[in-house]
Amino acid sequence: MTADYTTIIGLEVHVQLATRSKLFCACSTTYGAEPNTQVCPVCLGLPGALPVLNREAVRLAIETGVALNLEIPEFTKWDRKQYFYPDLPKGYQTSQFDLPITQHGYLEIADPGGAFEPKRIRILRAHLEEDAGKSTHDESKAGGDSLIDLNRTGTPLLEIVSEPDLRSAAEAKAYLSELKLLLTYLGVSDCNMQEGSLRVDANVNLHIDEGTAAVDGAKPTATPIVEVKNLNSFRGVERAIEYEAQRQWREWQETRRKIGDFPKQTRGWDDAAGVTRAQRHKEESSDYRYFPCPDLEPVTITPERVDEVRAQMAELPAALRTRLESDFGLPLYDADVIVNQGRGVADYFLSVAAATGDGKQTANWITQHVLRTMNAQEVSLDELGLPADRLAGLIKKIADGELPSARSRETFDLMVEKNLSVDGAMAELGIEAVDESELEGLCQELLAANPKIVADVQGGNDKAVGALIGQAKKKNPNADPGKVRAICLGLIAKM
Ligand SMILES: [Zn+2]
Repeated sequence: MTADYTTIIGLEVHVQLATRSKLFCACSTTYGAEPNTQVCPVCLGLPGALPVLNREAVRLAIETGVALNLEIPEFTKWDRKQYFYPDLPKGYQTSQFDLPITQHGYLEIADPGGAFEPKRIRILRAHLEEDAGKSTHDESKAGGDSLIDLNRTGTPLLEIVSEPDLRSAAEAKAYLSELKLLLTYLGVSDCNMQEGSLRVDANVNLHIDEGTAAVDGAKPTATPIVEVKNLNSFRGVERAIEYEAQRQWREWQETRRKIGDFPKQTRGWDDAAGVTRAQRHKEESSDYRYFPCPDLEPVTITPERVDEVRAQMAELPAALRTRLESDFGLPLYDADVIVNQGRGVADYFLSVAAATGDGKQTANWITQHVLRTMNAQEVSLDELGLPADRLAGLIKKIADGELPSARSRETFDLMVEKNLSVDGAMAELGIEAVDESELEGLCQELLAANPKIVADVQGGNDKAVGALIGQAKKKNPNADPGKVRAICLGLIAKM
């Protein structure tokens, strides 16, 4: 099927902020506690209970705003969004309607189509709101009860709404990956999707080119917007967008229904079945009967306060990538791999590179060996048990010529396996630095025994010397192949 349509995607990302207490009360936000043990009259909305704003949540929202190039207006207020839902006992959610804490910014992502040509995704707003509780329904249909856990009620969320600038499932994933990386670098959220700390809704529709777009600047036809809910993995987001684009294309061919003919629809993503299913029609904002919250004062954020927060912010991934290129001479590819692993791996690189003074070798070891081993063993950097000073020791031994590079890989593996220093691993493997004169003697011996190879090299075939390396290693396993090659060529040249 030729795709004569463009997929238009906007994402709403709900991020749970990493505060210890809830947005308007002192209840704990710790995940996984016994149901309904982290609740109080405020988060239950009991009569007479008054909310008190969590200053830390505001600070984290300002940090995110700065990182996403958002405007931070001096004045922001709270609104009640009225709707009845079983796990929202107050009957309204405290959110922000017309005056959000931050608005109009952007995030740059690496374009998955082109190598590293950045693409700017505009962000409409990022506002604060409180989370609802969690309902559990009896899925066996055996007539069991529905259970409600209100521990999550009142947990601070930042809802980050992008403009519809994304054009493919791959772009949506690139945007989410960069957003998650940025938020975790800042420490704004742990973004743990299994625990619901990062949840995504995708708004998807199609722009269909009916061949008129080029004529008189006519706009392409758009299909009705569908909001897909319940996306709790990046893979789910990609699959749902791909599914929805194809579904809407089929529907368009059957019905010719355009945006405006049909209200915005909400569909849920069924990950197991790999389909979206129609839910209710989306409420218009007027259905929520927003009104300013009478219990909470509006918040004033001065430019000085923003500067103060900015001054204390952690380094952002994009800035760190640039620094790894400029200060350590890394190619962008290496810088990207290291930074995208998260703050832990990036800090590890910085420690090892500082100790070895060789950014490129350090990057090679981390990207080729450390990450490979972490993936193979499915462990984190901490669990791998190779402190920065040990890896630095290994890299320095190679640079100093005390550890033949041909044996460095097995040394590394033994260091990890047995929790050894480089000296310990080399001792166990019987690796000793081979004395230069000893190696020269060995090479002379080999050349004397192989006149044919000497003749070949003299005839211009330097590669012939490779046959001697295996022989050298048999006589002395510590002989470094690179050195054997260099010494043999040197000796032949003098013959
Ligand atoms: Zn509470």
